[in-house]
Amino acid sequence: MPRIELLDAETISRIAAGEVVERPSSVIKELLENAIDAGSGAITLEIRGAGIEYIRVTDNGGGIEAAQMRLAFERHATSKLRSGGDLLDIRNLGFRGEALNAIAQVSKIEMKSRPKTQEYGMRVVNEGGKIASLSEAGCPDGTTIIVRDLFYNTPARRKFLKKNAQETAACSDMVTREMIAHPEIAFRYIVDQKQVYRTPGDGALRTVLFCLYGRDYAAKAIPIEGERPGIKISGFVGVGELSRANRREQSFVLNGRYIRNVLLSQALEQACKMRFMQQRFPTCALHLTMPYASVDVNVHPNKLDVRFREEIELLRNMAEIIEASLAAHDAKKAPKFSAPSEPEKTPEPSAEIPAHNPPAPAHTPPAISTESVMAVFGALRDISPRPETKEAPETREVAPPPSKELTTESKYAAMQETYFKEDIEAPPARLIGRLFSTYIVLEREDELLFVDQHAAHERILYERFQKQYGAPQAQYLLAPEVIELGHGEWLRLHTQELLLRDAGFVFEDFGERSIKLTAIPHFLGKPYCREFLLDILDQLGEQAREFPVGREMLIKHSCRMAVKAGDRLRDESIFALLKDIERTGISTCPHGRPIIAAISKREIEKRFGRIV
Ligand code: ADP
Ligand code: MG
Repeated sequence: MPRIELLDAETISRIAAGEVVERPSSVIKELLENAIDAGSGAITLEIRGAGIEYIRVTDNGGGIEAAQMRLAFERHATSKLRSGGDLLDIRNLGFRGEALNAIAQVSKIEMKSRPKTQEYGMRVVNEGGKIASLSEAGCPDGTTIIVRDLFYNTPARRKFLKKNAQETAACSDMVTREMIAHPEIAFRYIVDQKQVYRTPGDGALRTVLFCLYGRDYAAKAIPIEGERPGIKISGFVGVGELSRANRREQSFVLNGRYIRNVLLSQALEQACKMRFMQQRFPTCALHLTMPYASVDVNVHPNKLDVRFREEIELLRNMAEIIEASLAAHDAKKAPKFSAPSEPEKTPEPSAEIPAHNPPAPAHTPPAISTESVMAVFGALRDISPRPETKEAPETREVAPPPSKELTTESKYAAMQETYFKEDIEAPPARLIGRLFSTYIVLEREDELLFVDQHAAHERILYERFQKQYGAPQAQYLLAPEVIELGHGEWLRLHTQELLLRDAGFVFEDFGERSIKLTAIPHFLGKPYCREFLLDILDQLGEQAREFPVGREMLIKHSCRMAVKAGDRLRDESIFALLKDIERTGISTCPHGRPIIAAISKREIEKRFGRIV
């Protein structure tokens, strides 16, 4: 048998280094966090060759004293933690004293630093973990670290790196997170001599989002703000058109630290349910503030994963805060429709909407015939974009100044003025007709609106059913129904028995894989109950987590009862529907599809070559 022996010190540090420094982006994370911990107001990050060749981080923080320059590279050398007891109360991003040591083990580092109080700076060179030189040097206050030739002495690790483009993307992702985590710091990010991102450090998260994701995102992201015992949340959520096909643009910042956590994503998605479509994910930049002692950040050397003490509680609170903010936003932004000229007598509106193809209307046609609206829409799609016209005198003043001449600062200013009209209510919209018997077409100030009649009605019904059937009750069937299930379905049915019973299904086993259904949720008609149950079982999947059976049923039921695309609605029905939308401020159907789509006057005028 081989003998058990202790590893030598060098091997131990290499192994440990591997946990902290996996790839260039992990170096970036550690260096940026050191700069942030040093109290910097401005940080520049430059990378070349995907961060493998060269990484530079320059900050204007507190610096390192001359006498400590050597010590900073020792393993477990830190100025941020004094004893084990402090581990319960970690306020800095760093605390393990491992990063500089680990990075130095696998690269060539040059570091210059000068605290304000010191007249001269120090320059130290460390190669593969050994100090190669240490001398006085002239430098501005703060710290600059340059990391070259990452993994030059660990070829195995280097071979496992992805293509340069992917490593660069990972670096950019990391910088993005730190920018979101610290809107008060002015960041500059340079890749291969080109500036990629820059944030002004004005303290506003919205500005950071503008710089990272663009004006549209910054303008349309919904502010989230709220507090519950043990947690405070602020930030932004992007739903609908701001949702994405993956979770990459979900950023959670806990007490100033960017973290990864699937549960937080789930709480977010739960809260935003119905506001994004299937296969998509809401985006967010959320800052969570919690007592330091209620989170453990010392889970892994990379400090990205955390553990929460009161997990369930936290997730519930979080979902509630987000839901409340979204609802408040809806209420404020609810579209307004100008009252129809005909006197309306529809006090309990959408109930009156006939569910299925009503007879063709014997009523006055809309102000503009559907045909002409269709003609316009058709033209919008057909005409190839933008014929070159120099002359557009009557609209010249509408065109914005050429954007290339705007400085970053004036762009912020313009954005603040025009786009963040949080408190301004939506202007009223005027009905102009219906399109394809599917969309209601409206004009509002500078845009043409299309309302999806099915999506809108479905959501209205959903809200109503939800109120009526707050707690689903069971309705006993005169003749119980026997349903035969697949093995998977049968298993799922039993794992989720409680949920299904809560929702109003009562059943018992009936032979091998069959059940006898004796009661169904009381709003379901008998003919549908079988189909509903099977559908729900499909959706339950293998997850034993909470699954909102009741809600899924309500969604299906609403979908079934709502007017369909292609149903020709009477004018009163349209007005009733619009009133309902206005009253409830809803913006998506229960499946998360948008109810309203807009085409701006600008876009239309562009198609006609009136403006360029
Ligand atoms: P940790 O951040 O966990 O303390 P590091 O190895 O990352 O460990 O850094 C070691 C020490 O070096 C820090 O505790 C800090 O005192 C000092 N240091 C590192 N980077 C900087 C910086 N940019 N500005 C000031 N001090 C720094
Ligand atoms: Mg550190």
